Amino acid sequence: MAVERTLSIIKPDATRRNLTGKIIAKFEDAGLRVIASRRMRLSRAEAEAFYAVHKERPFFGELVEFMSSGPVVVQVLEGENAIQKNRDVMGATNPEKAAPGTIRKEFAESMGANSVHGSDAPETAANEIKFFFRDLDIVG
Ligand code: ADP
Ligand code: MG
Repeated sequence: MAVERTLSIIKPDATRRNLTGKIIAKFEDAGLRVIASRRMRLSRAEAEAFYAVHKERPFFGELVEFMSSGPVVVQVLEGENAIQKNRDVMGATNPEKAAPGTIRKEFAESMGANSVHGSDAPETAANEIKFFFRDLDIVG
């Protein structure tokens, strides 16, 4: 199994409730390392660009509104099989369907306000990391 990098975002519902440390601990406990991190506030345009793949979905407007509603923490996670491992630690998109012990099961407020984003495949991980970080910002 290969060492991979993936993009993680701690979403505004979680920063608002001061949950960043508890969420990062879940990643670290699973063997993922934070090798780049920045707290920032996305503009509407940035949220639209980041989630452009979803622009035809009925929830797109709500998603952009939510993701630009408060601070987020964008980070690069590294580890063995990091893309799938991050998705496993996050849990299902719908928190009602998320497995016990996952971030979304424990912390998500709703389907939209579900505390974390994680890249879903190697190509999206590479593109999403590039969206937020220069190579120089990533220290593995
Ligand atoms: P995931 O974040 O698990 O990869 P998707 O890529 O399908 O899920 O969706 C991106 C984000 O859009 C979700 O994390 C969630 O915040 C929001 N979202 C997805 N489906 C819905 C929905 N039916 N209603 C509201 N928000 C949604
Ligand atoms: Mg997704």
